[in-house]
Amino acid sequence: MSATQNLIEELGSRTGIEAGLGEEATMIADMVHRFSADVLRPIGKKLDRMSPEEVIASDSPLWDVHRRFAELGMSSAALAEMDPAEAAILTSLVFEELAWGDPGLAVSLGASMVPLRMAYAFNNKFLIENIPPEAIGCWAICEPDHGSDMADYDGQASLPGAQYSRPNCIATISGDTVTINGQKAAWVSNGTIAEYAALFCACDRGNGLEKVALVVPLDLEGVSRGKPLDKLGQRALPQGEIFFDNVTLSTDWLLAPPEMYNTVARVQLTDANAGMGMMFAGLARAAFELALDYAHERKQGGGYLVQHPGVRARLLDMFRQVEASRALARRAGLFNTTEKPKALVGAISAKITSTQAAFDVANDALQMFGGNGLTKEYPVEKLLRDARAALIEDGSNDVLAIKGGSMLVQEE
Ligand SMILES: Cc1cc2nc3c(=O)[nH]c(=O)nc-3n(C[C@H](O)[C@H](O)[C@H](O)COP(=O)(O)OP(=O)(O)OC[C@H]3O[C@@H](n4cnc5c(N)ncnc54)[C@H](O)[C@@H]3O)c2cc1C
Repeated sequence: MSATQNLIEELGSRTGIEAGLGEEATMIADMVHRFSADVLRPIGKKLDRMSPEEVIASDSPLWDVHRRFAELGMSSAALAEMDPAEAAILTSLVFEELAWGDPGLAVSLGASMVPLRMAYAFNNKFLIENIPPEAIGCWAICEPDHGSDMADYDGQASLPGAQYSRPNCIATISGDTVTINGQKAAWVSNGTIAEYAALFCACDRGNGLEKVALVVPLDLEGVSRGKPLDKLGQRALPQGEIFFDNVTLSTDWLLAPPEMYNTVARVQLTDANAGMGMMFAGLARAAFELALDYAHERKQGGGYLVQHPGVRARLLDMFRQVEASRALARRAGLFNTTEKPKALVGAISAKITSTQAAFDVANDALQMFGGNGLTKEYPVEKLLRDARAALIEDGSNDVLAIKGGSMLVQEE
């Protein structure tokens, strides 16, 4: 039995010092763990070594991931029908397990749920009826000239009197028709493969520029995609631009009227940041487990690595970061599902804590593996690359920290 399996037996749980999960939640977490171990981990490893074009080719194993995840029945629709507190705990367990398997694929599966999840969050019946539960979705908010500016939807991190350049994407609303022109950034997760986009962009109703959130079926005439993005980490996650050339649809597809944009953006950023907290606790756990097992296998200095006090101290440091990330992420997810209004400050805290922990724990794991850690023969260098991307993903941690800090301060 491996050292990790031993620890799981001793604590009675795969997710650390876990109390009172209940039979059903444990069963579902176990099922998702098996899916992660048998499907996500091996496929994520393969996709990491493929070109971005190969990742989305018709014969790519990526499609198996989406198809087989759909078979697990964990869609936004299924979660929306559960008791909110149960759904929050389950979401936290499921996304930790998915990212334990492969962080980029976990993000792809999570981003896929955004359009329908937002439709449920705003109880938009038209969207709930018109977005198929298993469709691949995305959240298209960032633009080539507006990355942090879009994540900072209410300008909390902007300079006094800030002047922004023209938006790259504008939805013009006239009567009951919306016409979209422009593009979203190459960073849109699932941008190259999504069937529906939750599009957050500028809008023009004839009274100057505002902002709006809507869902856009991406098979409409005038939609095209950019070149798949080639990047350092989360290479299994397909990303790329979406272009809109006079794309026309009815105002039924608006998530909410433009007046509500800041509320919609806050709700979505809260959900996304809490999700990032859950997923990257999973990456941190994967790195910790690999280091724990390796420390029991590798001999140096007359004994196994794990016999050296310095190695034990490092392992404890990794373990406590995993526990702290998971605890905060689950707390933020539960609060934001069951309480109103949602606390973006909690979700931001969870996102920053987990992604920084993921990066630090993956870095410590790589150190534990010594030179082996640097090679592609071992899995830790990939985890470090995957974690690095998360410090920028869904709002860079710097900008999120400014936003979160601003929420704690009462301005004069
Ligand atoms: C893996 C990954 C997945 C992503 N998924 C999506 C997605 O699904 N949909 C989507 O729309 N976007 C997505 N993004 C985009 C992501 O939200 C942006 O990359 C992020 O908001 C930063 O924007 P930027 O890259 O344009 O950097 P910039 O905004 O150009 O920022 C550059 C640097 O300047 C700092 N900075 C910028 N503005 C300020 C400020 N006001 N105060 C202080 N510092 C500042 C930033 O912290 C950063 O360090 C993803 C990104 C990554 C890496």
